[in-house]
Amino acid sequence: MRLSGPEGRQRSNIGGRTMRRRPTKQSPGPTALERKFMSWVKQQACVVCQSWPCVAHHCEGATWAHNKVKCGHWFILPLCEFHDGVVTQGSRRVFRERFGTQADLWLELIEQAPILPPAEVVEAVQDWGR
Ligand SMILES: [Zn+2]
Repeated sequence: MRLSGPEGRQRSNIGGRTMRRRPTKQSPGPTALERKFMSWVKQQACVVCQSWPCVAHHCEGATWAHNKVKCGHWFILPLCEFHDGVVTQGSRRVFRERFGTQADLWLELIEQAPILPPAEVVEAVQDWGR
């Protein structure tokens, strides 16, 4: 079922500038390569329901690192407004129980990506496994 088509509800911040946060010391902005990956992600359909437009949802936040590998700006999924809401305003657990782990969805996503995340990032997400 399509939850929001082209004529569906749209929030002005989807794919827009308002989603962008100012880089800080604690939360550095993405590198050029990460930005390229992010803009590709935004062009993809929602990994849950295939609708579009999507936001680049940071699965564990922009500063997230695992095993000392910074993955925050790589570990992102294209999610429509509705499914982004499930995980950001609802809970990761609810999202995981309904749609699978963000890690699995991400590993599937990057199989089609023209820009591959660094191997250590892929390993870290695999190891994280949720
Ligand atoms: Zn969706």
